[in-house]
Amino acid sequence: MNGLPTGRFAPSPTGDLHFGSLVAAVASFLDARSRNGRWLIRVEDLDPPREVEGAAERQLAVLERYGMVPDESPVYQSHSRKQHDAAIANLLDRGLAFPCACSRKQLPESGIYPGTCRNGIPAGLAARSVRFRTNHSVVDFVDQVFAKQTQLPAEQTGDFIIRRGDGLIAYQLAVVVDDAAAGITDIVRGADLLDSTGRQILLQRALDLPMPTYVHLPLVVDPNGRKLSKSDSDDPVANMVPRQALALALSVLGHPPPTDRQDIHSIWSWALANWNRARIPRGPVVVQTGRIEGYTRNVP
Ligand SMILES: [Zn+2]
Repeated sequence: MNGLPTGRFAPSPTGDLHFGSLVAAVASFLDARSRNGRWLIRVEDLDPPREVEGAAERQLAVLERYGMVPDESPVYQSHSRKQHDAAIANLLDRGLAFPCACSRKQLPESGIYPGTCRNGIPAGLAARSVRFRTNHSVVDFVDQVFAKQTQLPAEQTGDFIIRRGDGLIAYQLAVVVDDAAAGITDIVRGADLLDSTGRQILLQRALDLPMPTYVHLPLVVDPNGRKLSKSDSDDPVANMVPRQALALALSVLGHPPPTDRQDIHSIWSWALANWNRARIPRGPVVVQTGRIEGYTRNVP
């Protein structure tokens, strides 16, 4: 777009900001701003039934309290429905996607699509969802933390859904269209999305969109190994002391601030000067947010 590195944080408004999301926000913010780049926020509100009233606004308020203010007003993914539908129509027109009549119950337990409707919907059935045709394309990319990745979406998921049976747009399609529209050059996000990156790169290729750089962050887990966002010990960030939570987030990211940095501004200035992707561990990193002072780190 304007040649500047551009990163984004993309929260889902399904609850309060939790510590795992704070780590992603901090990393994406530092990765862009340490290179004098732009940092944006996109609220991923694609799934209204899962949304919690007011959650997006509360999450944005917490980020602001931490000093993370985006270069443009936050955008809401649901406002891009026209662009999402246009991309799906484009793929359908070119035979790169196809209507599917299968219900979840008709799919094998593996979740891998067996190709039932790939060559047309079986007689007597009606289209429900739209799937992207994966063929046998191998996707190679270099993640900046997890190194070289080789993914074969045809074997991981098979032809995958881009518009759901309930009419909602699938994450894989929306994330690709919206990142390209915003000129995102660097995607910094949790490692739980690493496996889906190959599907997103296939969509970028099919839609002739540029491929951003990928930086996947270590998963943050509780002492029982559960992902923090799904864990009972996951206190909302709003309940934490910002200085402590920021220092902990940086420690998770391999950048523990020097102990003489005692206020949030001096921690940020240290972090901006010292941010280095090569220091990010692959994790997973064990954190007990309920006892924020007594955390343990598990950095390989
Ligand atoms: Zn089908």
